[in-house]
Amino acid sequence: MKKNDVFLIIIILLILVPVSVLFLLRETGDKVLIKIDGKVVDTISLKADGQYKYETDHGYNIVEIKDSKVRVIEADCPGHDCVNKGFIKRNNESIICLPHRLEVSIVSSDEEFDIIVQ
Ligand SMILES: [Zn+2]
Repeated sequence: MKKNDVFLIIIILLILVPVSVLFLLRETGDKVLIKIDGKVVDTISLKADGQYKYETDHGYNIVEIKDSKVRVIEADCPGHDCVNKGFIKRNNESIICLPHRLEVSIVSSDEEFDIIVQ
């Protein structure tokens, strides 16, 4: 192996390793964002296990955070699509309750990284 090849491999590794680490972090997300009518009404850590109740103009939703996953455990909307969706755990995944105009999504608090990627 030539000296230049080794140098090239080191350069590639130096670029690839931080990028993959950032992508892994991005996959996991660490905050749960609750929006009603498009407005953020709450931000909860994905580590804060518990149940959270939200009253909207159209009804209520109970959101449960457990083992770094989140779901809508109970709601009085017709159809219960939000409850049936089950757990979400990846960054940028979301549960939407259309009748209540409520959105539960997982986001990463690493906003700076988003700017780098875009
Ligand atoms: Zn619903």
